[in-house]
Amino acid sequence: MNSRRAGQDADLAEIDTIARAQLQTARDETAKGLFTLSSGRQIEAVLIPDFDDTGAAKRLTVCVSSQVGCALGCSFCATGLMGFQQNLTAGEIFDQVWSMNALAQKRYGRGVTNVVFMGMGEPLLNYDNVLRSITLLTHPEGVGLSPRRITVSTVGLARRIKQLADDQPRVNLAVSLHAPTDAKRSSIMPVNRAVVTDLTALKASIQHYTRATGRRITYEYCMFRGFNDTAEDARHLADVVAWAPSKVNLIMYNPVEGLGFEPTPEAHLNAFIRILVHRGVTVTVRRSRGQDIDAACGQLAIRERDRV
Ligand code: SF4
Repeated sequence: MNSRRAGQDADLAEIDTIARAQLQTARDETAKGLFTLSSGRQIEAVLIPDFDDTGAAKRLTVCVSSQVGCALGCSFCATGLMGFQQNLTAGEIFDQVWSMNALAQKRYGRGVTNVVFMGMGEPLLNYDNVLRSITLLTHPEGVGLSPRRITVSTVGLARRIKQLADDQPRVNLAVSLHAPTDAKRSSIMPVNRAVVTDLTALKASIQHYTRATGRRITYEYCMFRGFNDTAEDARHLADVVAWAPSKVNLIMYNPVEGLGFEPTPEAHLNAFIRILVHRGVTVTVRRSRGQDIDAACGQLAIRERDRV
């Protein structure tokens, strides 16, 4: 195993080197890297550039994977189809950013500005390695990112959210909600069927998190046509947002072949937003990036695996 060292003394860490097997760049310049781990399994990371009016890259976000596959089996997710295969080490997580940082420097003359744990896997099920990778990413001899530029996105594991609040890594927290009631959420996200991770448990953990950190959280809400995009859904979502200081990020779904979900039409999206805004909810919309290269998380690795 190749390795290099980061940090000094107590911070000293061995970092595994991952090998980039493939790089695809979409028309919108979203770049997706497929990496081979020392185990031979593959994971992916995506570099997402945002440009200002002059065409300069104002934000360079890397979406990293924390596991190979995922045990949680959400029915709209390509990674869920793979099942759980392994946790990544802190070094393997760090190296995705390191590699994409080098790409960003080469293409845009500046390094990565943000990191989101929204790739393959549930980061809070690989808790210790994710926290260690955050230490490396924020270390001046690592990438030197501010923790406020790092977002951990979870399906909503209540006990781990409380632990994260108590450990105080000062990163941002995003919760993948995707449905605003237990009945709907359990139908697409099996994790919600357990009482320790249903919406009641999630509410308690989020209220604990905001009390302990003073931070606002973000709910990720993927819009599925005819499933979670009605006026009633918007009203239920506004009720969830009222639990604690928070905002909603509506995501335009990037369809995965064979899973049976379709993106919400623009007119439904606009009506949905109007109801939320009327209820005082802060809303942002995230358009799918890199659709021509399958940049929905999990899709490139699935394609490669299927080809073998
Ligand atoms: S959406 Fe996230 S938690 Fe659900 S199966 Fe996919 S990777 Fe796992």
